[in-house]
Amino acid sequence: MASIKKIGVFTSGGDAPGMNACVRAVVRTAIYLGKEVVGIHQGYQGMIDKKFINMDARSVRNIIQLGGTVLKTARCAEFRTAEGREKAYKNLVEEGIDALVPIGGDGTFTGAELLSGEFGIPVVCIPGTIDNDLYGSDFTLGYDTATNTVIEAIDKIRDTAASHDRLFFVEVMGRDSGCIALHAGVAGGAEAILLPEKETAIDDLIHKLEEGALSKKSSSIVIIAEGDKNGGAYNVAKRVKEKFNFYDIKVTILGHLQRGGTPSSFDRVLGSRMGYAAVRAIIAGETRKMVGLRGNMIQLTPLEDAIHNHSFKLEEDLLEMATILSI
Ligand code: ATP
Repeated sequence: MASIKKIGVFTSGGDAPGMNACVRAVVRTAIYLGKEVVGIHQGYQGMIDKKFINMDARSVRNIIQLGGTVLKTARCAEFRTAEGREKAYKNLVEEGIDALVPIGGDGTFTGAELLSGEFGIPVVCIPGTIDNDLYGSDFTLGYDTATNTVIEAIDKIRDTAASHDRLFFVEVMGRDSGCIALHAGVAGGAEAILLPEKETAIDDLIHKLEEGALSKKSSSIVIIAEGDKNGGAYNVAKRVKEKFNFYDIKVTILGHLQRGGTPSSFDRVLGSRMGYAAVRAIIAGETRKMVGLRGNMIQLTPLEDAIHNHSFKLEEDLLEMATILSI
């Protein structure tokens, strides 16, 4: 393989706290190792629209502490077509970009895998998504910050729940993965946690809430992942209200506030480690891999596995523990 001269880095899909720390690490590692770096604005859309910006070590100063992504992100329908990818690749060639470090979720990886398969450009991807739903990494970039944001919100909601003897249903992000809900539920002392991976019967939930009320709980918080099969927090609240009126019932949908905010120390370090490792890997000749953290060690996983392997399971032990600890 010809030696890599110019690396393109971009963020794609949903933004996640820690992406900027990661971009900074990619840029500075590449420059340190004698490579040029181009930032591609708005992910695949920017590749098609030629939004290329030469980066130097100073261009990433003062961004490690910022949420969101300074490179901007986008969802790009055109890149899903073979014509769109060809256009993007031609632009990369024109710009002299001969390797890519994409930062995003499984959709971003699928696009990178296709582009690399079709045109042979080396890609080493970084898992940047708050969902923590990718095989090959114990943590994805942004998940820790998002969970802390959720816990902060739960703590505030608990103040008002306790003051008014209320039952709150709090909906958090997670269409397919209940990771945020489960961890925030444990850390926030939730009475019940409803997840996409496991069906919860409303009658069982009511039974649990009744037990709590009988044991003199003055307020309760139930965490619901948006992908829970009961149809979201408003639906669950409505159905519970029909049979259980011990508390005043309220619903809070946390929504997009879970995405933003100052990245936690963990996400800054993780982003730095992953960005650094991705550049080293791509220069060493690796391609079609994802950089991940497993057992506190940086490891590479084939992109195909990162995208398609769903063998990692819901942490049933945590869920069981949460049920016991909320008696
Ligand atoms: P998040 O987990 O935050 O949603 P993501 O990377 O999974 O991040 P997507 O919107 O699914 O977010 O994907 C980002 C972009 O990747 C898409 O807008 C599209 O340009 C490209 N992409 C996704 N799926 C494919 C595909 N099957 N083929 C080609 N490109 C794709």
